[in-house]
Amino acid sequence: MQVIIIGGGIAGLSQALSLHQIGVSCRVYDAVPALSPLGYGINLQPNAIRELSALGLGEKLAAAGILTKELAFYNKHGQLIWTEPRGRAAGYRWPQISISRGELHKILLTAIHERLGRDAVVTGHRLTAFEQRGDAVIARFNDPSGRPVGAAAGDILIGADGIHSAVRQHFYQGEKAVFDGYLHYRGIVEAAPYLTGASMAVVGHRSHRAIIYPVMQRPSGKVMINWLAYTRIPPGAPPLEAWDTVADKQACLEQYKGWTYPWLDVHGLFAATPDADVLQLPNVDRDPIPRWSFGRVTLIGDAAHPMQPVGAQAGSQAVVDGRVLAAALMATRDPVEALTRYQDERIAAMNDMIVRNRNLGLESILQTAEERAPQGFAHIHDVLSQQELEHTAISFKRAAGFDVETVNSRESFVERPSSPP
Ligand SMILES: Cc1cc2nc3c(=O)[nH]c(=O)nc-3n(C[C@H](O)[C@H](O)[C@H](O)COP(=O)(O)OP(=O)(O)OC[C@H]3O[C@@H](n4cnc5c(N)ncnc54)[C@H](O)[C@@H]3O)c2cc1C
Repeated sequence: MQVIIIGGGIAGLSQALSLHQIGVSCRVYDAVPALSPLGYGINLQPNAIRELSALGLGEKLAAAGILTKELAFYNKHGQLIWTEPRGRAAGYRWPQISISRGELHKILLTAIHERLGRDAVVTGHRLTAFEQRGDAVIARFNDPSGRPVGAAAGDILIGADGIHSAVRQHFYQGEKAVFDGYLHYRGIVEAAPYLTGASMAVVGHRSHRAIIYPVMQRPSGKVMINWLAYTRIPPGAPPLEAWDTVADKQACLEQYKGWTYPWLDVHGLFAATPDADVLQLPNVDRDPIPRWSFGRVTLIGDAAHPMQPVGAQAGSQAVVDGRVLAAALMATRDPVEALTRYQDERIAAMNDMIVRNRNLGLESILQTAEERAPQGFAHIHDVLSQQELEHTAISFKRAAGFDVETVNSRESFVERPSSPP
């Protein structure tokens, strides 16, 4: 069996490693002239680390990132609303790892080069069209200058080509990304550790919210801190959606004036970020779709379920997709049946995540606290009961498939012995 994977991002590369692990041959095609380690921070929840550990990458990831210990929510006055242990501190057998996306990408790509060979990833190949002909799928590509650069044939085609997936467009012609009127500023900066030294902090409420977490230990004892801050922008078409658009840092700083707390100087952190490293991205996702699998073609990762960046899910769910798909191919080598089985196992939960994230997911407690106590509170339980707080936290984790019981007790999706890093 030969599998064509379109897209060499987190979903495509981890899918290739999973297919190789079960003895299925594959090749990854990406549009960019060369794959390079791009991006700021990304989180891998224990459900994804469990699977990446089964691929033998747990220790490398742990060394490159930060083993997250805590998730803490604060209102805009810096008052603590909710804190919960994360990763091993919460009783998982596998850690949560906050990591630079570039480092994660590099670790996946290096493993592919070592295990599958350098030919397994073909760059400068943008998918432009594909067709299913009998038992084969034929994919056609253009080079970066837009000229046809050849075709590839396989038994299966997996669209791992991100939020602007050409594979998805083929089945959902004219479908548009959904922009909700918010922009994120994003940055990464070297700074002193705060709170536990491995805490993810979420501050504010729906229209002014910052998500902050360290992703890398520096030899100096400092850490590289990733941050993301939301702001509402005037109605109109969404600004350019590209991962490298430099933002107006001063405009960002204006929005977060006064966000200086005893536990972290959030405004100071943003101000200390080099101007060129403050980027922006419109907050976009796509509506849930009823099908991912069409005969011998399917979607994974952001191509299948692009979601707003709430609850640190996109990278983890992309990894899990690839594992469930590999397991389906182990269970039945009939490609059409396997792709249907994969879809049926994943699609309802991921469509639910898209909607939950639009409603702020587990961060919704921030908005409730703001609505009930915009001036702050004497005690959080005057505003939100312990039961409300606990229910919001556990229901999101269960829906996303990474509550402690599920992760620790289920079999690995691809049944191979897996030792925690
Ligand atoms: C450059 C970049 C930087 C990012 N930075 C961050 C970040 O800092 N933090 C964060 O949380 N998330 C980031 N993301 C998004 C994050 O990687 C995804 O949300 C998540 O990991 C799911 O990954 P994915 O593989 O589905 O999508 P992506 O990681 O977006 O990968 C999609 C891949 O498909 C390729 N592709 C697209 N169209 C075609 C086509 N027609 N033919 C062939 N190849 C195609 C793209 O070049 C890309 O390599 C970034 C994505 C990219 C591409």
